This record gives sequence, C-alpha cells and structure tokens, in this order.
Amino acid sequence: MTTDYQTLSEKSKQYLWNPFTQMKGYHEDQPLIIESAEGVKLRDVTGREYYDGVSSVWLNVHGHRVPELDEAIKEQLGKIAHSTLLGMANVPAIELAEQIIRVAPQGLQKVFYSDSGATSVEIAIKMAFQYWQHKGKPEKQSFVTMNNAYHGDTIGAVSVGAIDIYHKAYSKLLFRSYRVDYPYCYRCPVSQEPSSCGFACLEQVESLLTEKAGEIAAFIIEPVVQGASGIITMPSGFLKELRKLCTEHDVLMICDEVATGFGRTGAMFACDHDGVTPDLMCVAKGLTGGYLPVAATLATDEVYNAFLGSYEEKKTFFHGHSYTGNQLGCAVALANLKLFHDRGLVADVADKSGHVAERLEAFSSLKSVGDIRQRGFMIGIELVKDKATKEEYDWQEKIGLLVSRRACELGMILRPLGNVVVFMPPLGSTVAELDEMIDILYKAIEDITEKGVKTRGEGLPHGL
Ligand SMILES: *Cc1c(COP(=O)(O)O)cnc(C)c1O
Repeated sequence: MTTDYQTLSEKSKQYLWNPFTQMKGYHEDQPLIIESAEGVKLRDVTGREYYDGVSSVWLNVHGHRVPELDEAIKEQLGKIAHSTLLGMANVPAIELAEQIIRVAPQGLQKVFYSDSGATSVEIAIKMAFQYWQHKGKPEKQSFVTMNNAYHGDTIGAVSVGAIDIYHKAYSKLLFRSYRVDYPYCYRCPVSQEPSSCGFACLEQVESLLTEKAGEIAAFIIEPVVQGASGIITMPSGFLKELRKLCTEHDVLMICDEVATGFGRTGAMFACDHDGVTPDLMCVAKGLTGGYLPVAATLATDEVYNAFLGSYEEKKTFFHGHSYTGNQLGCAVALANLKLFHDRGLVADVADKSGHVAERLEAFSSLKSVGDIRQRGFMIGIELVKDKATKEEYDWQEKIGLLVSRRACELGMILRPLGNVVVFMPPLGSTVAELDEMIDILYKAIEDITEKGVKTRGEGLPHGL
C-alpha cells in the first residue's frame, strides 16, 4: 500500500462519519478509498479497479466521466453555478421541468425541485397533507405505507418508512402511518400461491380504505419494485389495482420512483409498466445520471391548482431549499435526458435485461440461492440456508455482506440488503461488461456459500 493510501486512511478515520456505517468496524479495517473512474469502473487510490455493480448505490446511468455530461456542467459553469428559485426562475430549471413532464406518466404537469430522494418524499407528504386542507377536508391527515417500505432518512420520510432495523430507534419522533403488505410473493404475507391468489393481499388495502379513507390523505408506494427491503418485485397488474382503490376511495396516490425512475426497471418509469399515473411522483437517483443531487416531486394540475389563491388566503406551498433548482444540477440532468433519448436507452435496457435474465437462470443451481428477482436492471438474489424450507440465514452471519466483500476482492463493488445480494449495474453497461459482472457475482456467491473462502477484510466496503 502506498503512503498516500495510509495517510488518507488515517485521516478518513480521524475526520469522517460515514452514512449507514458502523464506524467501529470501519476503524478496525482498511477502508476502500475511491479516486477516479472510467466508464462503469471505479478506481481506488491504490490503482485497483472495480465494476460499479450497484451504480454507486442506484444512481449511475451511463457510466462515469461521460463526455456529454461533463461538458454540460462545464458549459453551465461558464454562465452561472447557482441562483435562487424562490420567486424567480433560471434557464436550465425551466427547460428540465419541460423535459421531465414530457417523459413522465401522462397527467403529471408540474415539477417541484429539491435535492434528494428524501426531500422529494417530504414534499409529496406536505403537498398531500395541505391539499386536503385546501379542498375543505382537513380531517384527511393520515398516510398509508407498505410493510418494509423505504422512502429516505428525514423524519417525514422515516414516518412513512417501515424497515424496523433502520426506523425503530426514532419511533417516538415519528407520525404514525397505516401499514399494508407489499406483495412479497416468495414469502407471501397472506400464505397464498402467486399463480392462483387473485391478489389476495389487496383485501387489506380495500378494507383499510373502506374503513378509514375519511382520515387518509395519501397512500405512498414504491411502484413495481420495493427497493431497500430487498428488491421485492410486484406482480404485473398490481399497481393498477392500487391506483383503482385510491381513486375509488378519494385517497391521493404518491409513487416514490426515486429508485425505479429513469429506465431502471426497463421502462422510463415503473408506473409505465401498468399505465398508471399517480397524483404525486417522487424522482431523484437517476435524474442527473448519478452526477449531482437534484430531485423532483411531480404533481397533477388537480393538486397544483388547489394551492392557487390570493396572497391573503395563505394557500402557498411553504417549502423550499437553498439549492432548489440548482443550475449545474439541472444542466447535467438535461444532458442526461438527451442521452436517454439519443441512445434509445430505455429500450436498450429492456433488451439487455433479457440477456441478464438468461444469465441469472444458472444461479438457481447454487445451493443458497432461494429467489432471483429482477425488473430491468434492478436485481436481488435472496440467499437462504435451506432452499426447501426457505429458512433464512441469521442476520448476524452477514451473508450478504460477505458475498459483497468477496465480489469486491474479485473486482466488483456491491452493497447488499441483509441476505439479499443486490446487483444494479449502470444502465449503459455493455453486454460484455454485464457478462463479466455476472461472472463475478456468481463466483462471489459460490465462494462464500459453497467453498468456504474467507475474505481478507482490507480495503473492502463496510455493511451496517
Ligand atoms: C434511495 C431512496 C430514497 C431516498 O433518496 P435519497 O436521495 O437517498 O434521500 C427514497 N425512496 C426510495 C425508493 C429510495 O430508493
């Protein structure tokens, strides 16, 4: 290891507090320190290269150092980096809003910017809450979420979150939400078979809404794929049924497309698979191609119009952030959407994901692979102790983390979700690159779960 590395490693331990990281374990190890990247590979300060197998945690689209995206930022820098959007506008923020609405599900008409997935969710929650006040139904104040949902880490977003390991510590700080089951078909919450269930788990949604709609403002959903809970895929047609139930009971539907948006599932938005338009939609991760923190909450005119009134009526949406509508971020997002269009990227992802699916079939011969879930380039492989009984690995065994650390040694960075190995390659990965990544993925699972290979524990990523 170079002196450079040692010095940086020590300073990292002295000064950094990393997100979702147990710093004690981080201190005991040698951290992985990234210095640069090229295409779909990251390079650390010692010169080792790794495939970016989770798209830098679900963000990256065309790879790193994309000339068109780099250029868009440089060009914008020649004009201005940032000015406020409070009560005024800027050029890239306007142009980007138009382009987002052009590709969004039909019926979404307005774009409210912020800077992370969590803030886009906070905004949707506050909009839904205030909407009902303006509509003369202020008693509609509650939210419905789905078990194991993840919507970000700010207090409002955590209040509609439902992953106990992340959220329990803060429970006294949160507002309470109703919870219904997500259709986790591998471990069906209502003990049915997916082939014959007729969406039996929707009955709880229907009875909750029938009973409580009078006090419910909105239902928040991760459409088609529930991400952080372990890449749980929703059966086709399910989202449409949820949309119907929300409409029938006069409850707003918020779709959190922070992870699924911008081509990730093989459609521009996950909602497109079922032809659904939500009342509010949150987007973030892929919006800037993984370059800069820009997020947006999209609204229908029905929601937007409820906020119009004279100054004295106080119907204003009282929310904003310093960097709302940041020009550099909007400029790179515009260039990103242009590349989506020019490269036909969404259709390309749909195509390549067929190849990925074929390659993943071979994984079912591995003893520990219980379930393989995929929508486009969102892939989760659930590892189990016993395939027949679906017995889970104890979380203390950190099986997902061990596989991810092995993958890192083999040249690919992954970040697991418990016992689920997550694979989310950049959308622009070529078939040859995907093949190499899938080879590493296979070997990492095989090495850890069947061959008893030990990882070194140096220069590797940390888990929870
Ligand atoms: C990542 C994620 C968020 C939070 O986004 P941040 O930018 O990390 O705040 C919200 N919702 C979903 C579905 C996500 O995957």
